[in-house]
Amino acid sequence: MNLLFPFSEIRNGQKELIEDIKTVLETGGTLIAHAPTGIGKTAAAITPALEYAVNNDKIILFLTSKQSQHKIVIDTLRLIKDKNKNNDSFSVVDIISKQAMCPRDIAQGYYTLFNEQCIHDQKTRKCRYFRSDKNITNHILMNIMHVEELKDFCTRNVICPHKAAIDAISETNIIICDYNYVFSDIFETVLEKTHKSVSDMILIIDEAHNLPDRLRGQLSGELTMNLIEETAKEINAIDKKLYRHLKGIGRFFDDFIRRMPANTEKNINRENIIDGIEQVLQEALGDSMSYIEFVGALKDAEAGLVEKEKHNKKEMSSVTSLIDFLEKWTTQLPCSRIYKNENTPQLSFRLLDPSVLSGDIISNAHATIMMSGTLYPVEMYADILGAKHSLLKQYKSPFPSENKIVLVTEKLTTLYTERNDSMYIDIAEKISKVHDAVKGNIAVFFPSYLLMEEISKKFESSNDFKIRDKTDNILLENRHMSKSAKDELYRELKINSNKILMGVQSGSLSEGVDYRNNILRAVLIVGLPLSPPTLEVKNLLDYYIKKFGREKGKLYGHIYPAISKVIQAAGRGIRSENDVGAIVLMDYRFNYWKYKKCLPPDYEIHFTDEAEKLCREFFSKPFVLKAIEDAKKKIIEEEDLQTSIKIKSEVWEETGLIEDKGMIPLTVLKCVLEFSEKSDKNEIVGILTGSEVKTIGEHSCTKSKYCGVLENFKTNDIMDVIDELMQKMYLERAGEPLYPTVKISKTGKAAVLKKEKIEIDKIKTISEKLSETKNILPEEASCGEATKISKDGEKVKDNTGLKMLGLINTLGFPAGRSLLADILTGSKSKKLINQNIDKSEYYGILKRYTRDEVIIIIDQITDKGYLIVKQSETTNFPRPLLYMTVLGKNALDNNEQIEVKLQANIKDRNSVSKNPELLKELKFWRKMVADEENLPPYCIFHDKTLIEISNNLPSTKENLMNIRGFGEKKIKKYSDAVLEIIKIYKSNETKL
Ligand code: SF4
Repeated sequence: MNLLFPFSEIRNGQKELIEDIKTVLETGGTLIAHAPTGIGKTAAAITPALEYAVNNDKIILFLTSKQSQHKIVIDTLRLIKDKNKNNDSFSVVDIISKQAMCPRDIAQGYYTLFNEQCIHDQKTRKCRYFRSDKNITNHILMNIMHVEELKDFCTRNVICPHKAAIDAISETNIIICDYNYVFSDIFETVLEKTHKSVSDMILIIDEAHNLPDRLRGQLSGELTMNLIEETAKEINAIDKKLYRHLKGIGRFFDDFIRRMPANTEKNINRENIIDGIEQVLQEALGDSMSYIEFVGALKDAEAGLVEKEKHNKKEMSSVTSLIDFLEKWTTQLPCSRIYKNENTPQLSFRLLDPSVLSGDIISNAHATIMMSGTLYPVEMYADILGAKHSLLKQYKSPFPSENKIVLVTEKLTTLYTERNDSMYIDIAEKISKVHDAVKGNIAVFFPSYLLMEEISKKFESSNDFKIRDKTDNILLENRHMSKSAKDELYRELKINSNKILMGVQSGSLSEGVDYRNNILRAVLIVGLPLSPPTLEVKNLLDYYIKKFGREKGKLYGHIYPAISKVIQAAGRGIRSENDVGAIVLMDYRFNYWKYKKCLPPDYEIHFTDEAEKLCREFFSKPFVLKAIEDAKKKIIEEEDLQTSIKIKSEVWEETGLIEDKGMIPLTVLKCVLEFSEKSDKNEIVGILTGSEVKTIGEHSCTKSKYCGVLENFKTNDIMDVIDELMQKMYLERAGEPLYPTVKISKTGKAAVLKKEKIEIDKIKTISEKLSETKNILPEEASCGEATKISKDGEKVKDNTGLKMLGLINTLGFPAGRSLLADILTGSKSKKLINQNIDKSEYYGILKRYTRDEVIIIIDQITDKGYLIVKQSETTNFPRPLLYMTVLGKNALDNNEQIEVKLQANIKDRNSVSKNPELLKELKFWRKMVADEENLPPYCIFHDKTLIEISNNLPSTKENLMNIRGFGEKKIKKYSDAVLEIIKIYKSNETKL
């Protein structure tokens, strides 16, 4: 297989990166690539790797540190698939953690508790999602699905998304997953499921600068007195012996703390703690056990708590956290183990050497590609991750170097000995001056929240009113910022050009956020974020000095981690080749050689006391001004697009048969919006009422959520609503005056966004066809009784079902339900008259009945298997049509009596559900099935049927047969799923 690159152009630096990746794939080994933003590293890595993997029976593991990175990989793979239409035989599985994929409520709980519960529910078959389905696996393999889509799809099919993804990895070419799928014991499962060895794997590690810290964090933990006491409380309820042991361990820890000097940090020996705990456990008369036995007993107790459901989430988190600590503390791997007593006395440990977890895997994999825009210096990452004999490459930034100016300010610093009020005021003044000079938004990143707060206060208290005035423009990051709060900040920057965003280095605003379209003119880095000289930092430094020698050890343990944070934060401003901006490093130490040499080679530093002057000069250059103007236009375009997307998402909200007349105008507007905001009036009416099924532009209206949602209303009435919406300026004419095309106006869009209930005169006179139908049904007919359709209680003796088959037979072309109903009820539609259908012997033979009643009969005949609904294949207008089956032909040939019945238990046929939550679930399921079968939802079940189910809560197939809309065929096809949904709903209700 030869794969074409998904983009028409290969960017600067990208070609070289692709060639290097090809070399590593052919020869085996590792590439460590510092690939600056804009190179296009995802496409560069995945295209050659995929080609190689498919041709050589290898599997790609595309590893990311954050779920947000998965989307770009999926998008790139979709582009590759599009570009290689005749050569696209590859599959992908996107997977995240089991907990994040679990659709059940238990997924909201603490991790270990969730895990225990999940395992328990699998074993006891309590989890209804835990099953395999080959069709689901195939669907996953045949479609490139983002993990959220996969999760959604599996949930709708009542199958565990994580299990489905794991089942699919045995046959896939690419797995997109978190680092820990490879660098933890989960890797065993991956190898087992894929039936491959490490040497069959191609590892692509994205944003690889995060890997060392992630690996260290994997083997870390903390022990406090509070944790021991909370665990004891929980265990007390179920195991007195363990409770006594925990009390003993509490006394040991208390004694240990007393012997430690106050307010200090101290290295602790692994064995001392294990021996101390072991001694406590051995001394317990009659209850003695070893450390390992104690951990095992705690695990049993934890499982017991899950089983008996005697826990609450907080307490269970104590038991599981203590187990986690005690287990990991025994590791022989090199760790920093410290006792510290800042606020709370605690024992903590953390892995020192990430290479012990990564070295062997990287060496044994067929090939490893580590890449990042800040994988600098590459040699350090090779050393600390144990990637021996690697190809180390630093690619040039594809962005023009003249697009940025890099300044280091004189006099300013956050050096500990120079931290004082006067320095903070100077820093605030400099920030303010640069802000004035760049005439746009700036971001300022500080080494800590404390410093950020101190310096931001200087704006408020400044004697200079110009600085004081800026207080209102400051956007401050806080420690626990939600995603929506971050989005809000981002939006503020987008729509304003005078903001000062303040955040911390290596915080959530300085890493991972893409400040696009030049919304930041400058990024200011306040201070050098060297780690404070804690014992843990010293331990790491000592370890690296011992392992790599003094010079490298200092760089790796102290300087580079700080510089890496600076590069990450400073890179937020310039995100594309068109962006321009200033990077101002506000600490004179950046000009010291030992730090300066660690900055990327494309940083041409100016050491100055006049940063604002140089910024002003830079931002008055013609090409810079033009770039800023272009960026502004793009933001405006994007805002427009965003509004449309938002409106679209409103349009695509869940919908069903509209029974509230007041919602008709809004529904009409949404339907117009759905079809590119410009549509033929007749078509819109046809779609909404389900009477005419046509295609508008490239959209098939059968795929529209609005297809048939107003089928209870008359076409003429809906046409009148459209005309009135035009008079009231919600809709406006589009195109030629004679061509009845409408589009939505600004007022209309605003109404959709606000979900406005639009007042329309016509609404008062609209009659609901459904209500007429209800009224003519015989009240006394009992549910389940086979009753021929009757008018005013009169029994009908004709073989209506067979007549319907006769009509289909004589038509000579497949028709939809609406057309059949129109013919049988004798509609005066021009369409029928023009085609001479009104001359048919079947025309008007059921005119005593309403169109809805006739449609119900058609559905029954379909359910009985005489007709089948299929998407038409012979027409340009894909739509669901009715075709006669062999059973139908036989019935017609043999003049069979086909009995139809209309269930008439009107009491249970409220248009309102007594159990709206269940109705929601049923509608959700129906939508999923409809999507699967490529039919409009009402072809699966009408809203009326779902409402009736939700009111009657049937528990058997026999009960379901009594629900209107269910026949043998639908029982066979859908009853299991429907009954399962009802069962779960009932059990949840009982619990509540
Ligand atoms: S088996 Fe799947 S669906 Fe069931 S609890 Fe576990 S993760 Fe959730």
